Amino acid sequence: MKFNQSNIKKAKKYLDKNYCIGVPTETVYGLAANAFSSYAVKKIFKLKKRPKSNPLIVHYSNISDLKNDCLISDEFLKLYKKFCPGPLTFVLHLKKNSKISKIVTNNKKTLAVRFPKHRVFKKLINDLNYPLAAPSANISTKVSAVKASDVKDDFGKKIHYVLDGGKSKIGLESTIIDLTKFPQILRLGGLEVSKIESVLNKKIKININPSKKIAPGQSKLHYSPGIPLRMNALKPKKNEAYLLVKKKKIKSFNYFYLSKKNDLKEAAKNLYSYLRKIKNKGYKSIAVEKIPNIGLGKSINDRLKRASRF
Ligand code: AMP
Ligand code: MG
Repeated sequence: MKFNQSNIKKAKKYLDKNYCIGVPTETVYGLAANAFSSYAVKKIFKLKKRPKSNPLIVHYSNISDLKNDCLISDEFLKLYKKFCPGPLTFVLHLKKNSKISKIVTNNKKTLAVRFPKHRVFKKLINDLNYPLAAPSANISTKVSAVKASDVKDDFGKKIHYVLDGGKSKIGLESTIIDLTKFPQILRLGGLEVSKIESVLNKKIKININPSKKIAPGQSKLHYSPGIPLRMNALKPKKNEAYLLVKKKKIKSFNYFYLSKKNDLKEAAKNLYSYLRKIKNKGYKSIAVEKIPNIGLGKSINDRLKRASRF
């Protein structure tokens, strides 16, 4: 993807005017606005039809800006050094004098923060005087966007601009770790939990389906393609789309392969675009073959499970 300075300037101009725009990240596309402006972030909730109770992730370019808004710990620093910028979101304690809009956090005393790696995003955020609140750029409960055209399909003329950064390399949302009490994973995502465990040198609690919701990404229906989806299918029914990880010999119009080489990373990258594609082709349901529950396969299965509750 060509680096286009004039598009970045354009994006900055819209954000400085408190508009809400589509931005590329390595996980999925974000719907971004100035995190210090209640006026700007209110638009995000409205556009996404997102409940006010579901707080937004705030994106930073560097740790010294973050320190204006959040308290940090040794565990945070260890993980930051190893994985940032990258697909890891931290839930931290918010500082009393932080300028983050209370709309972002729904008045909570904690804040979810991330440092994206995408070079276009990084260039943009480096030029701004405020951090960016940016949830995934899709209508709430639906499949996330991994291309600029996905964002345009979802929001059309309702947003003024989408900064094109090519297809998202990871294709799944960030992993969320809550560091406000003891480390716990609130959402599986683009970074494998085993890698986090080896840096912190301990087993970490996975709390992705708690009885009391901490993060609405934990809500049961989410990431839905808008048609029924069933998992662990041995074969498709008549007229059903069949989603597979591994390239098999069978070539059929209704078979969609997420990877050429049985590679879970490649499968994760392609998952959302295939779910969108299948729906757009007019299929009424999707069968998915059993996906190995290892590495990123765990994050893929988490998304499919929530998507299957249509
Ligand atoms: P999205 O922005 O669509 O990727 O979703 C962001 C996720 O981060 C949602 O599941 C939020 O509930 C979660 N989140 C944001 N802020 C907090 C917070 N302070 N505590 C716990 N989870 C949060
Ligand atoms: Mg989302």
